[in-house]
Amino acid sequence: MSIEINRERLAATFTELCEISSPSKKEGQIAKHLKNIFSGLGADFIYEDGSSEKTGSESGNLIIRFDGNLPERNGTFLACHMDTVEPGEGVEVLRTDDIFTSKGDTILGGDDKSGIAAIIELLTLLKENNTDHATIEVIITTCEEIGLLGAKSLEHDKIQSKFGYALDSSGINDIIIGAPAANKIKVEVSGVAAHAGLCPEAGINALALTAQALTEISQGRIDKDTTRNFGLIQGGVATNIVPEYVILKGEIRSHSKEKLISYTREVTDIFDKTIEQWKGTDTTGDKKPSVKTTITDDYPILSLPEDSPVILRVKEAAEICDKKLQYTITGGGSDASIFCSYGLPAAIIATGMKNVHTLDEQIDLKDLVELTELLHALTSFSA
Ligand SMILES: [Zn+2]
Repeated sequence: MSIEINRERLAATFTELCEISSPSKKEGQIAKHLKNIFSGLGADFIYEDGSSEKTGSESGNLIIRFDGNLPERNGTFLACHMDTVEPGEGVEVLRTDDIFTSKGDTILGGDDKSGIAAIIELLTLLKENNTDHATIEVIITTCEEIGLLGAKSLEHDKIQSKFGYALDSSGINDIIIGAPAANKIKVEVSGVAAHAGLCPEAGINALALTAQALTEISQGRIDKDTTRNFGLIQGGVATNIVPEYVILKGEIRSHSKEKLISYTREVTDIFDKTIEQWKGTDTTGDKKPSVKTTITDDYPILSLPEDSPVILRVKEAAEICDKKLQYTITGGGSDASIFCSYGLPAAIIATGMKNVHTLDEQIDLKDLVELTELLHALTSFSA
């Protein structure tokens, strides 16, 4: 007998969650609401971690546990983020047949409240039907949308499961098993300011040196594993001043750790070489340009083998509830990447969300139902 999802209850839960505004760092109200819901569902453990000190959010990450009664089965965690992008204040949900959108002046927030709604419906079903299930841990992070900040400060030693699933992607019945690692790169080029009309000879143009180096650095899709982009440049003061200082920011992503390192080093090397090869004149005297490169490790590689327990479990679940899953690779990092770096392998399960991070964001109730069915099979081993 297959599980009967309560569609209207799921729709109401989703709408309620979306209408509690929670832009990154302003998650206090939604966190409180979620604690109440999970407490009402009989959670055995509800914990708000201390990450808010680092993230600056109104709330820490939530770690909630529902002890299972299938001792032969390992527990899993199900993870979502509670924050949304902007504009995300005062969300009003419109429902047209089974399609949910915002009123048009905000995002909907289905990213990632679709996942949270499915988890709540799952736990409600398990409770009302008294269904045997493995231990379920729910991790709901803050500040995912502003650099995975909540996950990066998660008190992961509180998590008992060996692996889990982040519910956070467009598509349906898609499982993401690979994502790149990324470095952020900041380049600061310093020259010498001078009057551009009266004595340009005394200046060293930091902007021209930056441009010269950039022409030697390939960007876009560099190879099948790697992308590189410089997306921000600031510098200079006025057209009549030789620019003294330029700051350039970019990122490199790769599915290969070696390539990430070598393409990052290439940037540093080209800037160093450009500065070293700069030739002064009599008028610049002993003045010299300089460059400082700062590399920040943004998130690590996510790579889950097909025969790893986290993938075998979701394959089994798909068979139980008769779904066909697609396994895909993505080009971006997410909380799942950070969980993996803690030794907690996490596959990403798509939730049906569409056009995320836009005012046209939408989701179909049918997809929320499908997601909940998959989660039910994943945790209770029954369809
Ligand atoms: Zn998301």
